[in-house]
Amino acid sequence: MKLLLTLLLCLLFGESTEIKEPTATKIFDVHLHGSKGINEQISELKKAGVYKIAISSSWEQQEHYRKNTDIKILYGIMFPCPNGKVPYSLQPCFTDKKEWPEIHWVETQIKKGKINFFGELLTQYFGISPSDTTLYPYYRLAQKYNIPVGIHTGGAGPNHGSPNFSWELGNPSLLNQLVKDFPTLKIWIMHGGDQYFREAIELMKSNPHVYADISVLCNPEIVPTDRFTSTMQAFMNASLENRLLFGSDNAPIKAAINAVEKLPFLTNEQKEKIFYKNAELFFSQPN
Ligand SMILES: [Zn+2]
Repeated sequence: MKLLLTLLLCLLFGESTEIKEPTATKIFDVHLHGSKGINEQISELKKAGVYKIAISSSWEQQEHYRKNTDIKILYGIMFPCPNGKVPYSLQPCFTDKKEWPEIHWVETQIKKGKINFFGELLTQYFGISPSDTTLYPYYRLAQKYNIPVGIHTGGAGPNHGSPNFSWELGNPSLLNQLVKDFPTLKIWIMHGGDQYFREAIELMKSNPHVYADISVLCNPEIVPTDRFTSTMQAFMNASLENRLLFGSDNAPIKAAINAVEKLPFLTNEQKEKIFYKNAELFFSQPN
């Protein structure tokens, strides 16, 4: 019926008779933050085809998400927090208002099943390298429990409120030492390195277990289509189609999905990998 209708419309309006493939309806959004209107946020995501999300926010806000059973949710833990606060929203990361969560407390939460990944790691906002050894006890814990670690890279928007933020610390090549010291740790480069995407690609090429999410890059309100297109082309040319993860970072969800849909060089199979298949493997498989 739909086919007949499409053909009829094409005949009536003289458009191409090429039938477009249906829009992807299965999305795993690996990069989301909290919202004041949780129910609205989740219903909007579901309408766009999102069935699973990986969320990071202040610990307190996360408790509100735990009451929502409408969508599958993986929970992250944000740290280290500049002055104890989540950048932009400036909510306290933890109830004790500290910058770093206490390591034994983190392990307890993992055992309780309340932490599914570490992230978004805020090292760039905090003013340290992701390979800073202050983080090593946390990485050891993540490795022990096979918990993925997502690290913010790239740049930042205005008014993040983090006094020690530095652009240079968003370079994914700073992960080299960490990757060397934790060869079995599951790591993903958040925002695909953004302006440092070439460095992200280099790191991923030599470390087959490192993944990247494409949040911010796929937000047409921040990154123009031609830049997103050439960045994605570079990832695909480096044969990284199995390690790219879709993330929205709270961008208008339909626009972010559409940005991927519109990439002319991606096959439907590659889109499915980016939209959910790679993420399912990354978050479930033992390393
Ligand atoms: Zn980020």
